[in-house]
Amino acid sequence: MSQGCPHLEAIREIETPQRRVCEECDMIGARWVHLRTCQTCGIMLCCDSSPNRHASKHARASDHPVAASAEPGERWLYCYTDDANAEY
Ligand SMILES: [Zn+2]
Ligand SMILES: [Zn+2]
Ligand SMILES: [Zn+2]
Repeated sequence: MSQGCPHLEAIREIETPQRRVCEECDMIGARWVHLRTCQTCGIMLCCDSSPNRHASKHARASDHPVAASAEPGERWLYCYTDDANAEY
């Protein structure tokens, strides 16, 4: 499932925050398309289809490789470092 990515294999519990906003977009009044939750620190940020791509910027800047989809009904993880997906 995790295609040999050690970051995805290390995930045991999925972080799911209560507020469904991109925390960066919320501060600057920007829009987003979909939301992702960083599995290292739990911050919720916007996906690569959003204008500001905060989740992937955060993953690279903070070295937090794995994000989970925060969209209702979606149950998958993505590792930015290895470009790997896993469902859960
Ligand atoms: Zn990885
Ligand atoms: Zn954002
Ligand atoms: Zn993080």
